[in-house]
Amino acid sequence: MDARLPVRAFFTDRHGGVSAGPYESLNVATHVGDTAAAVSINRGVVQDRAGTPVIFMRPDHGIAVARLDESYLDGREPPVADVLTTTVRGLGLATLAADCVPLLAHDASSGAVAAAHIGREGLRKGVVDAAVAAIIDIRQTRSHPDSVTFSIGPCICGTCYEVSSQVASTVSRSHPTALATTSWGTPSLDLPRAVVGRLAELGFTRVFRHRFCTFEELRLFSYRREGTTGRQAGVIVCEGPPS
Ligand SMILES: [Zn+2]
Repeated sequence: MDARLPVRAFFTDRHGGVSAGPYESLNVATHVGDTAAAVSINRGVVQDRAGTPVIFMRPDHGIAVARLDESYLDGREPPVADVLTTTVRGLGLATLAADCVPLLAHDASSGAVAAAHIGREGLRKGVVDAAVAAIIDIRQTRSHPDSVTFSIGPCICGTCYEVSSQVASTVSRSHPTALATTSWGTPSLDLPRAVVGRLAELGFTRVFRHRFCTFEELRLFSYRREGTTGRQAGVIVCEGPPS
């Protein structure tokens, strides 16, 4: 599905790949138990769609940022980080998720793009701020926040993501808009709403949000629903600095 950003950017679902069993079929993650050969073919499918080399994130529920230079055009592995950013023309970045929030960003003033993986731990630690800081740091000059656009892909919604009341209160202390209630009346977290809320606090309001819930949509991988499962990708391609 299209990410509705000014550059090539999209989110995959679980269809169109070669993986079998719980990874059927377009799993792009190497750390979930799928065969390496299948993941490699699936990543090729995603790269073909992007039309460029794509660097797949190695997320760790942290706030590390990896800024990728030209040396990544050969497709080598990035360092462990939950935010990837680049200004290299023709380089694609991919975030992986299966309930967590996949966030893509584009800054029209510098041409920089970013891909972020935001779960409840990353959110609490400040990964939204880390992603924004990375993109602002690249620009280095003051500019209007409206030059940065964001897209949030499929993730688990606030009425499905049940957590203990302790977790709910810990996360909502720094992100009050995360606090929600499941459709069955228990404490939950609304991660996408919290991301939108934090971006707004930082002055960014140009945020497109897909409303598909991974837990509810069977065409999407959901860790919460299935346990052993694959990951879908959110991909953004850098077109270089504006001319
Ligand atoms: Zn839901």
